[in-house]
Amino acid sequence: MTHRTTRCVVLDSYANGTALSESHFSLESKTLAPLAESQVLLQTLVLSPDPYMRGRMTGMDNFFLPQFELRAPLVGFGVARILESRNPAFTPGQLVHGSIEWAEMSNWGANLYVASLGSLELLDPQIKPHRRALDVLGITGLTAYFGALEVARPRRGETLLISGAAGSIGSIVGQIAKIRGARVIGLAGSDRKCAVLKEQLGFDAALNYRSASLEQQLRELMPTGPDIYFDNVGGPLTQMVMWQMQRPARVIECGQISTYDQDGGGWNLDIRPIHGQGLSWEGFTPVQFQEFFPAALAQLGYWLRSGKVIALETVINGFENAPRSLAGLFRGDNLGKMLLNVAD
Ligand code: NAP
Repeated sequence: MTHRTTRCVVLDSYANGTALSESHFSLESKTLAPLAESQVLLQTLVLSPDPYMRGRMTGMDNFFLPQFELRAPLVGFGVARILESRNPAFTPGQLVHGSIEWAEMSNWGANLYVASLGSLELLDPQIKPHRRALDVLGITGLTAYFGALEVARPRRGETLLISGAAGSIGSIVGQIAKIRGARVIGLAGSDRKCAVLKEQLGFDAALNYRSASLEQQLRELMPTGPDIYFDNVGGPLTQMVMWQMQRPARVIECGQISTYDQDGGGWNLDIRPIHGQGLSWEGFTPVQFQEFFPAALAQLGYWLRSGKVIALETVINGFENAPRSLAGLFRGDNLGKMLLNVAD
């Protein structure tokens, strides 16, 4: 019986109240057991470093997903090739996507099923390149789609301000809002990112949130604040934006990435501007709209093919760079979706 060895990424220590860095992870060698009944052997092609994974790395039990076990392989969204199968649903050579181990090869079984992350599914052969299944045609695209069209619902003439605008979700939300006729303004962490938002994606304006004069720049662009604030970031930036907003403006809370390194895992918000300014505030996850995923993916696919939505991406090559791809998300190393290319 063949015993294969592979490399995997493990979490060495939880990061609570401190910045996540490469030092929290190790690459380890692992021997794979022979396939059990119903398992498949996967070769990982692309992995998706995602901000939600940070919530599984605090060691706290206050996150909606369980904590990663220390010294065990991380699990996250990925695209893989079936190398061997003892599961009648899969045959060798097929491409699949779903929650998989952060390993170059892995035995996939029902133990990796995470309720809100779904199971292993065959990749639609029309998805090309296959890494699109991890951004525009994956969970971030679906988050952007439903966040924009079902939750934010921008109307022609309204101004939508987006934080984290040059990231995966932010960049897609902005493009969808432009299709809907809104005026779109992005906040991002560098002048280069702002230039891409304006020149490549057609945003009406983009501001570097690190600028000392940001508060004033926002007032000049939006004297009574945005009609809609699509928030990926939280923290002091969001508090400042919310104080500028006026009733009946709405805050769409998608994520709070600037707070995830805080003691206790973050997610704290001072609700005084919601109260004082009479704002509405709504959080969401795409899982609420699961029944409508097929139609959303068809629409996103159409927009991609017709060039109405551009997939921004930052692809890091090489499994050994997995820790950098994860820690880099929280330093803003990515423009568009952060992806880790493991094998071609
Ligand atoms: P992303 O925006 O592609 O990547 C993260 C970006 O966040 C970085 O590139 C960085 O851009 C920005 N960032 C990091 N630390 C920051 C800080 N301290 N202050 C301001 N910006 C910071 O990630 P994504 O996958 O699209 O996720 C975006 C947000 O949506 C995250 O908050 C995530 O948790 C959330 N999310 C929500 C759902 C949902 O169901 N609601 C689903 C997926 C993700 P800059 O260079 O501009 O700082």
